[in-house]
Amino acid sequence: MDLDAIRENTIKLLATLPAGVTLVAAGKTRTPKQLAAAVEGGVGIIGHNYVQEAKRCIEALGRKVKWHCIGHLQRNKAKQAAQLFDMIETVDSLKIGSALDQACAALGKIMPVLIEINSAEEDNKAGALPADVAALVKDLSALDHVRVEGLMTMGPWTEDPEKIRPYLRRTKELFDELAETRHPNAVMRHLSMGMSNSYLVAIEEGATMVRIGTRLFSPR
Ligand SMILES: *Cc1c(COP(=O)(O)O)cnc(C)c1O
Repeated sequence: MDLDAIRENTIKLLATLPAGVTLVAAGKTRTPKQLAAAVEGGVGIIGHNYVQEAKRCIEALGRKVKWHCIGHLQRNKAKQAAQLFDMIETVDSLKIGSALDQACAALGKIMPVLIEINSAEEDNKAGALPADVAALVKDLSALDHVRVEGLMTMGPWTEDPEKIRPYLRRTKELFDELAETRHPNAVMRHLSMGMSNSYLVAIEEGATMVRIGTRLFSPR
């Protein structure tokens, strides 16, 4: 897809988002030029799944936009992730949270993080189970260099966005419950859910961040 089309797609999509909903451009497999076109269209955050790919794009585009980690993070990548990203949306264990905390302490940085929820409790899927999230927030809130700012979920993959609605709703319920239990170092500010085929449903269910690739950049 040409760069003008990407810019136009971004402008149009941003115009349809209600106030309080932030667009994250899901940048995997896109070239820095394509990402720059989305930035020209007005997007302020780019999400990446892989540290190496993010690094290349950040070197090309710089820090005029924010960079979010939206892919599963391995502990041995925590140091690089701490340097590169402005937010990690995919913390799902104390183990990865502690690794980030250590890396951020060395950098003198406090990393905003979201907790990824395995909202459909699928086997072999990243994310904390709903039943474990309260304890995880409590544990993470004891760390000085990560700050929990909300939740993120993918939901099961399906063509029909109505089929993920219950899992998005479940995640919003968790978000509201956690907002009630106040931890000193954790706030429920961002709820990141919804992709190209599901973002409208996700917004209806309370998303404050939507992560969109295909609809901006054309099918991969
Ligand atoms: C690719 C990706 C998206 C966006 O998916 P599209 O269907 O291309 O909009 C959102 N979130 C994550 C974690 C992704 O990897």
